[in-house]
Amino acid sequence: VALFWLPLTSIASFWSQFQQGLSASERVFALIDAEPLVVQRDPEPVGRLTGRIEFREVRFGYTPERPVLDGFDLTIEAGETVALVGHTGAGKSTVGRLLVRFYEFQGGQILVDGTDIRTVELTSYRHQLGVVPQSPFLFSGTVADNIRYPRPGAPEADVRAAAEAVAGGDWLDALPDGLDTEVGEHGSALSMGQRQLVALARLLLQDPAIVILDEATASVDPLTEAQISEGLDVALAGRTSIVIAHRLSTIEHADRIIVMREGGIVEEGTHESLLRAGGAYCDVYNTYFRHQSPDYRPGSGFVGV
Ligand code: ATP
Repeated sequence: VALFWLPLTSIASFWSQFQQGLSASERVFALIDAEPLVVQRDPEPVGRLTGRIEFREVRFGYTPERPVLDGFDLTIEAGETVALVGHTGAGKSTVGRLLVRFYEFQGGQILVDGTDIRTVELTSYRHQLGVVPQSPFLFSGTVADNIRYPRPGAPEADVRAAAEAVAGGDWLDALPDGLDTEVGEHGSALSMGQRQLVALARLLLQDPAIVILDEATASVDPLTEAQISEGLDVALAGRTSIVIAHRLSTIEHADRIIVMREGGIVEEGTHESLLRAGGAYCDVYNTYFRHQSPDYRPGSGFVGV
């Protein structure tokens, strides 16, 4: 399968199509387990992780002649929320793809809780990873079925509790049959914002130690936006989170912002400290985030330039 050339989001949609034909219990990690490229050496199942992540001198290229990460170093503490920002092609998604073992890397190490991820057994490891793509994959069935996806045997009460933990469950009131609403093929009966809310409830039900979130770029109505924001706060709390950030509110709330360029880290800090520094972050901020600020006025000067 030519999976290895697809972005994270396409993998998820391919995954969902593939899994339509499988029973619920076969579905969850079937494709992931089928993946042939990643080599496992004496895999050890992992239990509950705290989620400390270390990239050490990681080298990786999609093709051998073109390295994308060349000696990449990054340590993320357990429970920390890190926002990855940078221009398109900087390598943000690649960092996430290596952590979830979509690709084998060529050099260095990635450690989770001090263990080399090449030695851990994939299914148990991936149960500890919550991946939220830009456009969450939904399959035909009810909202409840879709939330239940990572834990096929989860009782109704757990599904409901997860849904209600996202913005107090207010978003369910806008659905004709609440949790029993049919989402349509690939979620076509739901708005993009509602699909994201389903994805957050699904994440809470999965309860992973680590979250990799590729934030949606499409704008949604202000009410749904507020519900997503509130849902995100709950869904990321207490987990190690790597957010490929596209929303200003997310980067402002991140514990640390990592600015990437050409596969490396060029700057890191908090939103305020990086704005004061007037460096690479300001460039990224002016390009992608400044217009999202409530104080933004078209034509006002660029920050830090
Ligand atoms: P974006 O914001 O556009 O998603 P990004 O910062 O996430 O960008 P990556 O997708 O990680 O960037 O890409 C890093 C580099 O790797 C880019 O030069 C890109 O062209 C290249 N690349 C990404 N995916 C593949 C692939 N499947 N095959 C070959 N090259 C790829």
